[in-house]
Amino acid sequence: MKVLVTGGCGYIGSHTVVELLQEDYEVVIIDNLSNSLKEVLTSIETITKKKPIFYEGDVVDFSLLRKVFSEHSFDAVIHFAGYKAVGESVQKPLMYYRNNLESTLHLCEVMKEFGCKRLVFSSSATVYGSPKKLPITEEMPLSTTNPYGTTKLMIENILRDLSSSDNEWSIALLRYFNPIGAHSSGLIGENPKGIPNNLMPYIIKVAMGELPQLDIFGNDYNTKDGTGVRDYIHVVDLAQGHIAALNKVINSTGIDACNLGTGKGYSVLELVQTFEKVNHIKIPYQIAPRRAGDVAECYADCSYAKKQLDWSSKKDLETMCRDAYHYISVLKKSTDI
Ligand code: NAD
Ligand code: UDP
Repeated sequence: MKVLVTGGCGYIGSHTVVELLQEDYEVVIIDNLSNSLKEVLTSIETITKKKPIFYEGDVVDFSLLRKVFSEHSFDAVIHFAGYKAVGESVQKPLMYYRNNLESTLHLCEVMKEFGCKRLVFSSSATVYGSPKKLPITEEMPLSTTNPYGTTKLMIENILRDLSSSDNEWSIALLRYFNPIGAHSSGLIGENPKGIPNNLMPYIIKVAMGELPQLDIFGNDYNTKDGTGVRDYIHVVDLAQGHIAALNKVINSTGIDACNLGTGKGYSVLELVQTFEKVNHIKIPYQIAPRRAGDVAECYADCSYAKKQLDWSSKKDLETMCRDAYHYISVLKKSTDI
């Protein structure tokens, strides 16, 4: 089986490429390296002893897409490429709509042209907006609170229309909850540039001494300890969810959305305390005002993924915290040498 992975050098894409290669899929990556480094390809090869084929370029670029599809015959596509920072999407909505929508539209047009109609798409729990009920099930109402989320919801709708127009398409919409952690080798992981917006990358920067302390955004929510609750999922579990989704799209037609989470909610304080315990390191923090747009709690009902994909997450919060820190420690050691 040959799979095209767009955005395969990124955080979730690189972990998925590792799982695919280990399952003996042939992998072709297109990535413009706008939010990743080419060195990740060497790390993938070190882990798997296999080399994915790599095209450096933009998924928006029709001529590149046609070249790649002419040179390979794909059984399916996993589409990760896109911008993902909520705050930035509020500042630069046009950039987000252009990249996320155009890349998907152009990709689907070329897939159709070349008769490849199996797609796994990276959606997000953000399409549930401010959920009225917990845990979140796939049939709950969809809405968004920022341009990034709107691109995901618009793409879900476009893909639904595409599927209704032609019943040969087989599409999985995977709604990720909060991916954290890294590959156990410490060779691939998440290392955003600048000051991170998300909790785990921020904790890591504090742990490395690059930022003085963590601001906890609110301790007056109606949650177990007053801090925000999220469904953190190990990125390797998430990557394996893509293999399960790939099996599903290869063996069926139609379109279906699936939550990929653990089904468990942990608070900010629980995450900080677990990180401190497993890594033997103190994370100084202060309580800060709530962050605009945050919901108190968000966690998935994952029973549909179990039923439809025969997939469920395996790794616990301790492993997520240990692996996230291990990756940065390995990275720091290699750049210090
Ligand atoms: P990432 O930024 O690490 O990876 C995305 C990759 O796509 C990067 O390597 C980037 O260089 C590439 N890219 C972006 N636009 C491109 C384009 N037009 N052409 C070619 N390459 C392009 O992000 P990630 O965390 O791995 O997320 C992957 C996908 O999952 C994204 O679509 C994101 O919106 C979605 N998602 C992520 C999260 C999360 O918390 N990380 C949660 C929900 C959904
Ligand atoms: N959070 C925090 N300090 C930070 C970043 C995040 O207290 O510096 C909290 C945030 O308010 C939320 C949780 O951590 O309750 C997860 O935030 P993240 O941005 O990682 O994910 P999202 O809110 O998008 O689910």
